[in-house]
Amino acid sequence: MALRDIDRRQLRDRLDAELAKAIEAIQHAQQSAATVELDQSSVGRISRIDALQQQALAQGLLERLLTRQRKLNAALDRFDSGIYGLCCACEANIEPERLNADPTVVFCQGCAVDRQQ
Ligand SMILES: [Zn+2]
Repeated sequence: MALRDIDRRQLRDRLDAELAKAIEAIQHAQQSAATVELDQSSVGRISRIDALQQQALAQGLLERLLTRQRKLNAALDRFDSGIYGLCCACEANIEPERLNADPTVVFCQGCAVDRQQ
């Protein structure tokens, strides 16, 4: 079943909103990663270890956010190319419930299962 126009518009709005949120979160994460670097000059072994752990956490969060941003941008590109909602492997329509659960999915149910195996 293909996406109805109204669903398509809603998904596009969600992608735009999520991208705006991701960009904001990335800026925030970059700021806290930078703050942790400053803290590393603080005295004492414990606080250095603590700072490194905090930095690793901030780095991990930043990487996850950047991956999400890439996926959102890729989904918006597919919108602009008119291929949004089509499976990247078999070109069938991706199930609307899959897109509702995550508007950045690129595979239909069948192909996603194939890829997990
Ligand atoms: Zn497929």
